Amino acid sequence: MSQSVNPFESLQEQIEDAAAHIGVDDGVLERLKNPERVLETNLSVELDDGSIGVFRAYRSQFNGDRGPYKGGIRYHPGVSREEVKALSGWMVYKCAVVDIPYGGGKGGIVVDPSEHSTEELERLTRSFATELRPLIGEDRDIPAPDVNTGQREMNWIKSTYETLENTTAPGVITGKAIDSGGSEGRVEATGRSTMLTARETFDYLGKALPGATVAVQGYGNAGSVAAKLLEDDHDANVVAVSDSSGGVYNPNGLDAHGVKQFKNRTGSVSGYRGATEEVTNDELLTLDVDLLVPAALENAIDGELAREVEADVIVEAANGPLTPEADTVLTGKDIVVVPDILANAGGVTVSYFEWVQNRQRFYWPESRVNQELERHIVEAFDGLIDCYESYNLPDFRTAAYVVAIERVLDASAEAGNWP
Ligand code: NAD
Repeated sequence: MSQSVNPFESLQEQIEDAAAHIGVDDGVLERLKNPERVLETNLSVELDDGSIGVFRAYRSQFNGDRGPYKGGIRYHPGVSREEVKALSGWMVYKCAVVDIPYGGGKGGIVVDPSEHSTEELERLTRSFATELRPLIGEDRDIPAPDVNTGQREMNWIKSTYETLENTTAPGVITGKAIDSGGSEGRVEATGRSTMLTARETFDYLGKALPGATVAVQGYGNAGSVAAKLLEDDHDANVVAVSDSSGGVYNPNGLDAHGVKQFKNRTGSVSGYRGATEEVTNDELLTLDVDLLVPAALENAIDGELAREVEADVIVEAANGPLTPEADTVLTGKDIVVVPDILANAGGVTVSYFEWVQNRQRFYWPESRVNQELERHIVEAFDGLIDCYESYNLPDFRTAAYVVAIERVLDASAEAGNWP
């Protein structure tokens, strides 16, 4: 795994590559490549022993041409200004490619949450929400969960915002618990869009998904749901899965539900009895399978590892799992890569449905959420293919960025440049 790649540089490279196909003026390109603003703040929080802890935090608002900024908040020691800027940019293009009316944002606090009590984390979250208050709002900027944050943190942010604003505004945040205005289907949404884009890709390539062998790196929310849906809905054959403890493999197939139950019980996939072999993460990523789903962290496959990859199709459930060099190597090997900004866009799409339901104070059953999600993802996939074929583009990622950039440019041109 390569840690040396600067994610903001990767983002800028992807935008430049795509923009080159449609001819974008230098000034406009500069705007597409950089955030509109970044909040950097130092949060002073009283710790349980009475001392004061100071935590650096960021919120990047990348582009608001298509609607309110939208994107998660992560708690991690590795959070940096560059990472937050990159992630906020990816959100712009992700929302545009699935055509939901949002711009992109992202935030984070430099903290290892495992070192803090629930009370400290609540004070930290409420302190950040207070700093964010002038920037966020149902029509301004709508945060969501990301690495190490979930429904609990979202409910604290919502409660702080609503208390300070003296209002109710469930749509100020998404990823809430159902009782606080969350949406049915949100938990499965990212795995579901991963499954849907795999299905559409196999269909486009004339390959059969039933019986196709599948390897999944990262058996958390996104990876395990994708594996279960591929198995349940399409009879795909999930042969290998992994998590941070290592991987398990059975060439005749694992049981996606069984491995998940085992992981829930033991904390990891390692030691699952239905496996014939234990494999390392790098071994899993280079298995000769029909479909590889990286669903763990960014930069999982670098240029060197990409030379060993033998999968026919890669569907990126994780954000940024391939380095730009890996991308070049895989395109050269004719491996089809479905980019993260489409494959994992189910999460933000159902967040959008959550916000729509919050604004309407009218809640949908899960069947309607899944049906609307499928429509959005299939239409987005078809739009990507139209663009890929009509511009004769080298790969799906470039096509996704071209579609997205054209949508952002259209909105920006219609608004004009003012002041
Ligand atoms: P998660 O925490 O539920 O699962 C992550 C999994 O990856 C865990 O099983 C963990 O053990 C494993 N993992 C961590 N480091 C690993 C390593 N070095 N090798 C192999 N496995 C490793 O997280 P998630 O919500 O499933 O998110 C996974 C990825 O999907 C992230 O890149 C995230 O940004 C992206 N994503 C998630 C959502 C969502 O709605 N959950 C939406 C969009 C994108």
